[in-house]
Amino acid sequence: MNLNLKDQRKEKYLFKTIYCGECKQRKSCGKLSRAFCCPCQYQMELEKAQEYSSYQQVYQRKVKEQQDSYQQLKLLREYSGCKQCGSKEVDAYDLFKKGQLICQPCLISKEGESSSPISFLEQQKWYKKSWGIDLTEWLENFSQLPVNKNCVDKWKRDRNHLKSCNCLKQKAQETYLLFSNSLKESEKKLKECQCETSKKVRVDYLDSAASGWTYCEKCETKIESAGHHGVIKNRNSPSFWGLEAKEKVLCGNCLEGKKEGMPSLRKAEFNRYRKTGRL
Ligand SMILES: [Zn+2]
Ligand SMILES: [Zn+2]
Ligand SMILES: [Zn+2]
Ligand SMILES: [Zn+2]
Ligand SMILES: [Zn+2]
Repeated sequence: MNLNLKDQRKEKYLFKTIYCGECKQRKSCGKLSRAFCCPCQYQMELEKAQEYSSYQQVYQRKVKEQQDSYQQLKLLREYSGCKQCGSKEVDAYDLFKKGQLICQPCLISKEGESSSPISFLEQQKWYKKSWGIDLTEWLENFSQLPVNKNCVDKWKRDRNHLKSCNCLKQKAQETYLLFSNSLKESEKKLKECQCETSKKVRVDYLDSAASGWTYCEKCETKIESAGHHGVIKNRNSPSFWGLEAKEKVLCGNCLEGKKEGMPSLRKAEFNRYRKTGRL
């Protein structure tokens, strides 16, 4: 496969706008999501809901998140900048997921891509603008971050608020209810689903001209396939040639190797296809 990652992602995106990004077989009716068909979307929500199945579980996670972001901001504040380029911007993903400070500009020039940049200065501005607090001061004086804007407002009225702050518990409760309610909601909507199921096998990607292509499942040769709807041409489907194969898409050469398994009429036609270069 000689396509670079960026192109593949673009193609995936193009594809998603037409067929479900998960099963690639159904056209979403949009009741639950545009990107995924209702059955797939519901399945994903169900899995997600398991992570939020009890209040206690949600609360524990919120506590952890809260502690993590406090640590990350402290780390960011102490960062003296990249030794190579002097930048104080780090890769946001590495910071959030691994608590690591990795220079974002250097990451871009080395790997050609990265998540968004984040710096203490920019965070400080955000906290000032959105919550009206001085982040430096806060990190120096308190061992936790305010939970949300509401928490900040309470603290502004009562400087002892943090000692009895219930905001995180409230937030956990809200999140928990949100998930259980939205699952019920989705269950209802699922009954009205009108997603279109296609019996034909669809390709995973569309190229930038929006014509479909896929790969032979055996030798990975690129196979051009039919236009905008990404339906694989019959000629590349083993079942079209009367073969019982686990693969759904095969190139001409790989089908040739299975020719003996074809019913004779199909085999004759297959030979014709090969001779005229259609396969
Ligand atoms: Zn689907
Ligand atoms: Zn750097
Ligand atoms: Zn609070
Ligand atoms: Zn649907
Ligand atoms: Zn092949």
